[in-house]
Amino acid sequence: MIVKIGFSKPLAIIIHIMALLPILGYSAFHLLFENSLIGALLFFTGVVLTFSLVAIIKDIDNDPYLQAFVICMTLTLAATCYYLGIRGALFVFPLLTSYFYSFTFGYALALSSLAAFSCMIALLNSLDPVTVARLSLGVSLTVFFNASFAYLVNKQKSALKVEANTDYLTGISNRQSFNSWLDEEIPKSLRKHRFLALLYVDLNDFKRVNDNYGHAVGDKVLIQASERLLKCIQANSSLNQGKEIKIARLAGDEFTLVLTHVEKEEEIESFVQNILHELSQSYSVENLVIHIGVSIGIALSGQHGNCAEELLINADAAMYRAKKAGKKGYQFFNSDIYQEMFISKEIERGIQNALNNNNFYIVFMPIYQTNTLDMVGVETLIRCDSPRLKDYGPDKFIPIAERCGLIYDIDLFVIEATFKKIVELKELNPDMDLLFCINLSAKELQNKEIGESIRYLLKKYNITPSSIEFEITETSLVASSEENINILSQLKELGVRLSLDDFGTGYTAFSQLADFPVDTLKIDRSFVAKLNQQGNEKLSMVNVITMLANLYELDIVAEGVETEEQLNYLKAIGCHYVQGYYLSHPHTWDALITSTAAKISTEAHPHS
Ligand code: C2E
Ligand code: CA
Ligand code: CA
Repeated sequence: MIVKIGFSKPLAIIIHIMALLPILGYSAFHLLFENSLIGALLFFTGVVLTFSLVAIIKDIDNDPYLQAFVICMTLTLAATCYYLGIRGALFVFPLLTSYFYSFTFGYALALSSLAAFSCMIALLNSLDPVTVARLSLGVSLTVFFNASFAYLVNKQKSALKVEANTDYLTGISNRQSFNSWLDEEIPKSLRKHRFLALLYVDLNDFKRVNDNYGHAVGDKVLIQASERLLKCIQANSSLNQGKEIKIARLAGDEFTLVLTHVEKEEEIESFVQNILHELSQSYSVENLVIHIGVSIGIALSGQHGNCAEELLINADAAMYRAKKAGKKGYQFFNSDIYQEMFISKEIERGIQNALNNNNFYIVFMPIYQTNTLDMVGVETLIRCDSPRLKDYGPDKFIPIAERCGLIYDIDLFVIEATFKKIVELKELNPDMDLLFCINLSAKELQNKEIGESIRYLLKKYNITPSSIEFEITETSLVASSEENINILSQLKELGVRLSLDDFGTGYTAFSQLADFPVDTLKIDRSFVAKLNQQGNEKLSMVNVITMLANLYELDIVAEGVETEEQLNYLKAIGCHYVQGYYLSHPHTWDALITSTAAKISTEAHPHS
C-alpha cells in the first residue's frame, strides 16, 4: 500500500521496519512485565506487519495484510484503552479524527497528530516522564496506523468508483457512467447552440463468433474492436483539436461514441467512415481470422432527442435500420424510423393488451399425408381478435414480441391453448390421433426454463408427448451453440418431436443435421413456390432437401402448397407430408372439430 501511495519501495520498507521495531519492543515489554493480553495482541500485529513487509519486498499485493493489521491494531487499542483507563482515551483521538476527516491520508495524519499531541501537552503536568514517553510513542504509532487506515479505506472507495464506472472487459466507460455523462453534456451543448452526435455501433452477427469459437475468442474480438475505436478517436482528435469524443461499451457487442461540439453533419460522416473501415478489417485471435460487419446508427442532440435515454433509443433504432439495409453500414435517425418505432411501440402495447384481455386464440393449419391426403396433423397458428392488432398478422407482431420479450408469454399461451384443445378433442373423439405442431420462437433456445414449463403443462393436461411437435426456425440454429442444442435435447427428453421450420433458408451444413435432435424438416414455402418455374426441377431445393431428409431418416413436410402441379411434383419425389392453401386454409376450432368428426365417421364407415 505504502509503495502505491507514492513512497518508493525502500522508503516503504524503512517505514515498515520503523513501525515493526517499537511494536515488537512493546510486545516483549508487555509480555514480560505488564499486560500479557496487550503483549500477545501486539505480537500478532507485528507478525501481520512482517507479512506486509515481505509482500512489499516480493512486489506482491500487501492490502490483505494491511487490512488484517488495522484490525489487530484496533483490538490492541481497545485493550490498551481498557488497561490505561482515562489516559487511554488519548489513543482514541486519532482514530476518531481519521474517521471524521473522511479518511483522506493527509488530513487524517495532520489533524489526528495535532489533536493527539495537544492532548498530550495538556496532560504533561500531571504525568511522570516515563508515562509521557510511553504515551508519546504509542500515540505516534496510533496516528500513523490510523492515517494508513484512512488511506486504505479511501483507496478502496475510489477503486470501487472506478470499477462501477468502467467496463470490466475493455476498460472504457460502461453504460451507467456513460448515461450520466451524456445527461450532463446534452444541456451544455444545447446552451452553446452546438449539437452532440451519438453513434451507436454494433458488430453484425457477433453472436455467431461467440457460438462458433467460444466466449474467450469473442471477448478478444471485443477488446480489439474497442482498441480500434480508440485509435479512430485519436486520429480524429488530432484533426479536430478541442472536440471531445466519449466512448463506452453498453453491453455485449454494442459500443457508443459521442462527438461533442459538432457543427456540420459532414464532420460526423468522415468519422463514421473511418470507424466502419477500421472495424471491418479482419480480427486475428488465436490463429483464427474473423471477419465481422458493422452497423452504426446516429442520433443528434436537439433534433433527435434531449436526454440520454431518448438519444440512445433513437440511435439504436437507426442502427437497427442500418443493419437491415446492410449496404452502407450507417444510418442517421429520421422520420421514417420514428414512424416505424411508433408503430412497433403501438404493436407492443397491443400485444400486452391482448395478453391481458385474452384476445389471442389459435387456428389449425392441416398437414396431410402426401399420397393419401389424410389429415395427419395440424400446425397451430396464433391469431388476435383485438382491434388494436387487427392490421397486423403474426409475421409482423411475433418479431416485435421477440424484441420486447413478450414472446415467452405468447409461446406459453399457444402451448397451453393447444393442450386445452387437445383435451377437448379427445373427449369428443377418443380415437383421434392427430399430431399437433406448435411454433416455438428461436428466443426459447436461450430460455432455460422452457423445458420445465412444457413438462409441467404436459403433466397438467395429461398430454401424450409424442403427439406434440415443436417447430423451430432453421435460421436460429445455424450458429448451433452448445446452449441451443442443450435446450433442444431437454425438449427431446420430454418425449416430444422437434422440427426445423422454414428449412432451406438457413443454409445448415448437412453435417450439422446430425447434431440436431430433430425428427422433421419443413421445406420453406419459397422453395415450393419455385416449383412452378419449369425446367429446373431436377436441381430444385425441394429435391435436395427431400434427399437429405431421407439420408438422415427425417420426416419431411412441404409448406405452402398452392397448386395441383406442386402437389403432384411433391408426390412424385416422395415428399412425405404437405400443407398449403391448395389443400386447406387454416381451420378455426369449429371447422377442425367438424373435419376430424368427418374423418372419424368415414374411417368407421369406409363405404358410406
Ligand atoms: P410459419 O411457421 O412458417 O407458418 C406458416 C405461415 O404460412 C402461416 O402464416 C400460414 O398461414 C402461412 N401459410 C400456410 N400455407 C400457406 C400457403 O399455401 N401459401 C401462403 N402464402 N401462406 C401459407 P401466419 O399464420 O401468418 O404465420 C406467420 C409466421 O408467424 C409463422 O410462420 C411463424 O413463424 C409465426 N407464428 C405464427 N403463429 C405462431 C405462434 O403461435 N407462435 C410463434 N412463436 N410464432 C408463430
Ligand atoms: Ca411453422
Ligand atoms: Ca414455416
